[in-house]
Amino acid sequence: MKFKSLSLKNHQTAYREHRNKVNAKHILMLTRYVILFEFLFILIALFSYHHQRVENFPYMRYILMYTILICISFAMNRSAKYMRSSPHFYRLTTLYAAFFISWGLIVSLLDQALYGHLNAFYINIVAIMAIVYMEDRDILLLYLGETFVLFVFLPSVQVNQDVLVGHYVNTIVFILFMVIASHFHHKIFKRQFITNNRLKAQIKENDTMAEELKRAVEKLETLVIQDDLTGLPNRRGLEEFIRRISQMDFSDDVPYSLMMIDIDYFKDYNDTYGHPMGDEALRAISKVLSSELTSLNDYVIRYGGEEFLQVCIDKDSTQMPALAEKLRLAIEAIGIEHRTSKCADVITISIGIASSTVHSIDRLSEVLTQADKALYDAKTNGRNQYAVFDQSQNTPSSS
Ligand code: GH3
Ligand code: MG
Ligand code: MG
Repeated sequence: MKFKSLSLKNHQTAYREHRNKVNAKHILMLTRYVILFEFLFILIALFSYHHQRVENFPYMRYILMYTILICISFAMNRSAKYMRSSPHFYRLTTLYAAFFISWGLIVSLLDQALYGHLNAFYINIVAIMAIVYMEDRDILLLYLGETFVLFVFLPSVQVNQDVLVGHYVNTIVFILFMVIASHFHHKIFKRQFITNNRLKAQIKENDTMAEELKRAVEKLETLVIQDDLTGLPNRRGLEEFIRRISQMDFSDDVPYSLMMIDIDYFKDYNDTYGHPMGDEALRAISKVLSSELTSLNDYVIRYGGEEFLQVCIDKDSTQMPALAEKLRLAIEAIGIEHRTSKCADVITISIGIASSTVHSIDRLSEVLTQADKALYDAKTNGRNQYAVFDQSQNTPSSS
């Protein structure tokens, strides 16, 4: 409930700011035209005063009225430009509207002696109705107040009773329509703003949701390619890595090598120290393997169980032994006790190495088999060592 009323308040504030902005824009335009036209009227009045002077025309009164309108409109024009964001701008707008209609009222009273019409009053009300957005209460006060003043002063300037009655009837009907028109004009404007605002909020919400969804999908993708226990990528991660490599612009003869890494006597480790300790050892070994990666082109995954696979792009079989030996020593150096191992008294690894060139990376399984064979050699030769796949063993049947 509190949230709702708060958001409603924000909504109202945003609407008021918007209305002030639009009113300011309209008033800038209105005052510019008013100044221009009144200036022309002054010139016409002065010209007519000097050349074909109409005897009973109150030139000075009209010129004074035009000048007043120009001055006030100029002041309002400046306010619309520099005060549009002030909280008092709306009050200033209604004051100018009141002045503008009062000006039309006085001119209409002046006009009674000459033409007997109320055009200036009517035109100014229509202009305010079309140009300024005001609250219903202010419209009612303004229109009815001005009409009341007009009705009070009309009999003193209009002696013809028939014209006077005609003015009263016409003005009542006119004002009624203007109040209704102003009400709907403002209502439509307000509704349009609210609808636009809602749409904007909806679009923003949709964008946020889309962004959250994207993040969730990215997270899910990471989870899918990541091994829970070690945090290393899994086989799916490897597929993704191979896909990326295949898309890269390597020349065909760039080499790559695989290292199949397997923990020695790990079943015995589990049997001796328990499965949870086995998990701990797997984590520690994973950490060392990823910290030993030397290049962005190297990638290590948990291949399954206690086996890991390292892919090294841009490294051929001659560079691999040193790397494998470094890894082997690094695992040995963490010194995880393994008293039932038959090759050392700490946990050790055996490594099988095989190499090829990147143009065949999407046929990785062949090189994997070769690395597996090399690993088998390392195991049978006593474990805790690496072995490189011998290409000369690569008989046509195995390739
Ligand atoms: P070798 O030196 O020939 O590789 O002997 P090994 O005992 O390491 O090989 P083997 O394949 O006989 O046993 C692998 C063991 O790895 C068996 C299994 O319990 C253990 N293992 C596989 N995955 C996990 C795991 O997620 N956590 C733990 N704690 N042990 C695992
Ligand atoms: Mg194994
Ligand atoms: Mg093993």
